[in-house]
Amino acid sequence: MREPLISVRDLRVQFHTYAGVVNALNGVSFDLYPGEVFGLVGETGCGKSVTGLALLQLIPPPGEIVGGQILYCGQDLRTLPPAQMRSLRGGKIAMVFQDPAAALNPVFTVGEQMEMVIRQHRRVSRRDARRQAAEMLRAVGMPDPLRILNAYPHELSGGMQQRVMIAIALSSGAEVLVADEPTTALDVTIQAQILDLLVSLKKERGIAILLITHNLGVVAETCDRVGVLYAGSVMEMGPTTAIFREMKHPYTQGLLAAIPHAERRGRFLSAIPGSVPSGLQIPPGCPFHPRCAFAWDECRNEIPSLLPVDEGHWVACHLYGRGRR
Ligand code: SF4
Repeated sequence: MREPLISVRDLRVQFHTYAGVVNALNGVSFDLYPGEVFGLVGETGCGKSVTGLALLQLIPPPGEIVGGQILYCGQDLRTLPPAQMRSLRGGKIAMVFQDPAAALNPVFTVGEQMEMVIRQHRRVSRRDARRQAAEMLRAVGMPDPLRILNAYPHELSGGMQQRVMIAIALSSGAEVLVADEPTTALDVTIQAQILDLLVSLKKERGIAILLITHNLGVVAETCDRVGVLYAGSVMEMGPTTAIFREMKHPYTQGLLAAIPHAERRGRFLSAIPGSVPSGLQIPPGCPFHPRCAFAWDECRNEIPSLLPVDEGHWVACHLYGRGRR
């Protein structure tokens, strides 16, 4: 049986604000296996990015992880000494952000930045670090790597900058890549190239990728499995094919119905009524109940558990509770 590289268990994150305690994650659990892309989807504010930051122990104050475990190769990252966590972060577990221009340092060349990362994680000479940097740029499909090494970030297009970010992650020997909306800031054609690159890294290098996105089209093209987040909880999780073919949760159904489709040309797009609740006031019971057309008394009072409905397919909804399937 395959062992997960990352196991997130009952993860809880809170932000202590002047307005009160914001419950950003309320018991999120999922596994990430080597050589797979696991997508986290949901509307803005549902906790996707907070999950990615929590994985790297990068929750900014006034936020904090208040419960749960993040196991990497069986070791709980929450209990690691800060120095060990620092070496893991940007080493075995790396992050690719939405805006590569903001993530790259504008005053250093690409080569200098890559050399710094390589030499931070491996004992190699500057010359070897530069050679490895050029290899990594070639591995992410950069034409003319030697020219790119001497370029400053502002001299590159958005797509090239994102490739550099991915090359930096690879050059540190990353086994896990947390990619937070990595294509949102890019043109559509470049988006497809970056997604193809992520899929080839998973296949050729066995890298585990947590892909955070609000775009279900990206999920369909890229992810092996997907978790649907709402108000800081997983509503549905399973193989991407199963979720798209047989989505169970009313929230997932609403998200999929809102995607424009050629067959529905000329018809109004459907939308989920209402909006995502604030983490300050998560509704009791099922957090989706104020927006759900199927809600009944049980939904307003009891939090549904995430239960299996099929092989690897889990749903948190009273419609599929024990004895109802
Ligand atoms: Fe709707 Fe109830 Fe299911 Fe929540 S538990 S999604 S309110 S039917």
